[in-house]
Amino acid sequence: MAIVQHISTYNPLSSLSNKKQTLKINLIKRSMKFSNLKLTTPYLDLAPTFYQKVAPTPLDKPFLISSSQSAANLLGVDEDLALDEALLSIVNGETKLEGSETFAMCYGGHQFGEFTGLLGDGRVINLGKVQGQNLQLKGAGLTSYSRLGDGRAVLRSSLREYLISEAMYGLGIATSRALALIGSYTDVRREKPEKGAIVLRLSPTWVRFGTFEYFYASGEHDKLKDLADYVIDESFPSLKNSEDMYLNMYTQIVKNTAITIAKWQSVGFNHGVMNTDNMSIDGRTIDYGPFAFLDDYNPHNVCNETDKQGLYSFKNQPIAARWNLDMLARVLSPLIEYDLSEEILTDTFWSTYTKVYQTLLYDKMGLYRKEDEDKELLESMMRALGSSTIDYTLFFRKLSRFSVDKNKSNILASCVNREPLDKWLDSYSQRLKKETLSEDVRQQKMLKINPKYILKNHILQEAIVKAEQDDFSMVNELLIVALAPFDEHPELEYLCKPAPMKTNNVQLSCSS
Ligand code: AMP
Ligand code: MG
Repeated sequence: MAIVQHISTYNPLSSLSNKKQTLKINLIKRSMKFSNLKLTTPYLDLAPTFYQKVAPTPLDKPFLISSSQSAANLLGVDEDLALDEALLSIVNGETKLEGSETFAMCYGGHQFGEFTGLLGDGRVINLGKVQGQNLQLKGAGLTSYSRLGDGRAVLRSSLREYLISEAMYGLGIATSRALALIGSYTDVRREKPEKGAIVLRLSPTWVRFGTFEYFYASGEHDKLKDLADYVIDESFPSLKNSEDMYLNMYTQIVKNTAITIAKWQSVGFNHGVMNTDNMSIDGRTIDYGPFAFLDDYNPHNVCNETDKQGLYSFKNQPIAARWNLDMLARVLSPLIEYDLSEEILTDTFWSTYTKVYQTLLYDKMGLYRKEDEDKELLESMMRALGSSTIDYTLFFRKLSRFSVDKNKSNILASCVNREPLDKWLDSYSQRLKKETLSEDVRQQKMLKINPKYILKNHILQEAIVKAEQDDFSMVNELLIVALAPFDEHPELEYLCKPAPMKTNNVQLSCSS
């Protein structure tokens, strides 16, 4: 945000001729540089059991790979990040922003259904807060919560997190953001030797369901109230001092989470690690690991190789979210009567989720009037998508250019098995005839909700292979489409090609 100053200047010439002093108002635009930001650290006002004060451990010979001006704008930064000589050393933890005090946050969580006790930021160092955004460096070294880890993050997973954070924002889904990605020559041991990287992440909150779970499990129940008050101040200020404040907070968390998950389902996003330590208290998407966008539509898709039970399969995501919200209700029981929060969960979660999901899907289908047959048309579309073997994103993009009773072949050409969708498109054509909008207006609206560019794993993998050979061109091209996924980018058309058959819906490991 530019700082606009009103400056009064005295003009001696006009004063001489008019014998009057005229004040002239000039507007001077001053730009804000990232390295001039001033941070505060409200989290450190909580008791010391909430965090460890710890300094980052810089990487060797760091270099800037990419930065997001769009994320910087959130902080009020309008000067070109590429011109900020201090950016690299700040992201590498060598230089401190003014007011910054570095720390790691404490939390626990349920991982794949089991409570695992203390986790905490094992490789994240928080810098402080500005313009409502908390800044942190992921991969910046050991903390007292590192357990057996090395405090590092490798290039491939950091590149994925950097780009997906910006892509989710581009898709209109609540998410943490990523302002910069740096690489280095620091050796990091994983399955094969790799190099360390750091992502500078931003979020209005980094409190997780697991933060509450930790203080419940440790028996420090007085800390639950402190944390809830902090969360209300940080994420839900309008609820402060309201009647049943903590219950209202829980209701809002349930709603926000349901909305985010409905959005995931609408774009075919599979998070892969919905452990409660990866569930943000304000419902936004955080902690990207082996995520995937569906290639061919398969509701049973499991993107995380470690998830042998399919606990976090695409189809199970709303169920997993609801389960996580129930875990949260249990640990909030010193503040809210558990029966009351369960009532909220039962009343609010599915109703919010279903309403948002259906609305988004009807919009994706270009159905703006409400007709009795719509629910069945939506369900039969999902069945047809499953049996036709067609890329989920491509289908909706092509549907956005569909003309009643005309160009079925354009869509059917992308199916392995044409019959189910062929039939469905006939019913869809009939339904479209009941719409009052012109075809052109409908298509324009659909193109604004059905993305052309989605960060599929096979494309990200190509960018990773190049980046590991010091070619970062694809990262920066992907950033462009990530931030504007509904636009045509003729020169970047290669970034929306569907996955080759052999990499269709492949699973990724948690190694990062
Ligand atoms: P994640 O799977 O990234 O959500 O991480 C789960 C937990 O493991 C968090 O507490 C992380 O901080 C911690 N963790 C993951 N990788 C590392 C690492 N390389 N070093 C230290 N802690 C880690
Ligand atoms: Mg995590």
